[in-house]
Amino acid sequence: MKKHTQLVNAGRRKEFTGKAVNPSIVRASTIVFDSVQEMVDAGKRNHDDVEYYGRRGTRTTFALTQAMSELENAAGCYVYSCGTAAITSSLLSFLASGDHLLMVDSVYEPTRDFVNGTLARMGIEADYYDPLIGEGIEALIKPNTKVIFLESPGSLSMEVQDVPGIAKVAQAHDIVTMIDNTYATPYNFTPLDVGIDISIHSATKYLCGHSDVMLGVASANERTWKRLQQNSYQLGQCASVDDCYTVLRGLRTLAVRMAQHDLSAKKVAAWLSQHPMVDHVRHPALAECPGHEYFVRDFSGGNGLFSFVLKQHDQVALNAMLDSFSHFKMGFSWGGYESLVLGAANMASRRSATQWQVQGDLVRVHIGLEDTQDLIDDLAHGLDVFKQHLAG
Ligand SMILES: *Cc1c(COP(=O)(O)O)cnc(C)c1O
Repeated sequence: MKKHTQLVNAGRRKEFTGKAVNPSIVRASTIVFDSVQEMVDAGKRNHDDVEYYGRRGTRTTFALTQAMSELENAAGCYVYSCGTAAITSSLLSFLASGDHLLMVDSVYEPTRDFVNGTLARMGIEADYYDPLIGEGIEALIKPNTKVIFLESPGSLSMEVQDVPGIAKVAQAHDIVTMIDNTYATPYNFTPLDVGIDISIHSATKYLCGHSDVMLGVASANERTWKRLQQNSYQLGQCASVDDCYTVLRGLRTLAVRMAQHDLSAKKVAAWLSQHPMVDHVRHPALAECPGHEYFVRDFSGGNGLFSFVLKQHDQVALNAMLDSFSHFKMGFSWGGYESLVLGAANMASRRSATQWQVQGDLVRVHIGLEDTQDLIDDLAHGLDVFKQHLAG
């Protein structure tokens, strides 16, 4: 089945929807049973689609987790209150005191903070690796390496990783691999198909698509699913059924949204590439983006997120530019229908295994669903403001 069709149909089982198109919203802590036997039987079933206790989810939750499992070609999917909870719980499910973790240097900053904070405190050792290391990661593997964590592309610096290459090396050493797949969504890349064990998303971003929900998901293959599910449950992870419903609703329009974000972002990126104030654009579809060849090989498309680097570094001029935008709102997150901008200061301090060689200021944009000419006009005005402040 083609992706568009899958996005429309995934998870729409009669047990979840009744006669409606969408699943019922079943808010529950307690599930009541008609007999001792029914309760015992329900307890013996797997908890991927049988209502048992609220923390394990209701049919609303299952409609989403089953949809994600289908889209990711996974054995199962667990939902969390946010993407960060999905990441930390996945790591905790497969690491113990004395273990070693390999973490990509371009990783989302809160993930780095968790590794250097909580995991370090628990006696879990970590080494960061160059996002462009590919199969060279083999040299970093130690006898106690248990997990390799990937994120591709990095959500600020945008390096694309050789995901199949790293997965192949990890499999040969029996190491569990997990990827933060938030950028791609299952629409553009399905990591389990190239040998990754667990694919994690901040559903807060494109899966929801409307900037009104926090949610996380992790989809696992046969070899890792039971352990991920059990450990996540033991950690008390669960999510609101209203948020599950909203994200499932977002999934239905993912294909058309992604295609439009991708098209618009490419137009804006092309315009920025030729602007005299811009040093270079870091968009995975452009040849100058590190790892571009992996993007072309592995991904079926991009989205609205990319960065550009100005020729100069000047905090005052940068702040004036950021303050001047009208369509590009300043704020964290991305993946909603609206355009966003973020000035990323101190890129050098965000990494440890590699050097950030870029001199000028890095600006990250999320291209929303507005008209691209309005967005280009906004950027043109902002870059003029930047230039004026340099001169002044
Ligand atoms: C936003 C984000 C997260 C964290 O997701 P939350 O839902 O905000 O906790 C993780 N990884 C990436 C790449 C993100 O952009």
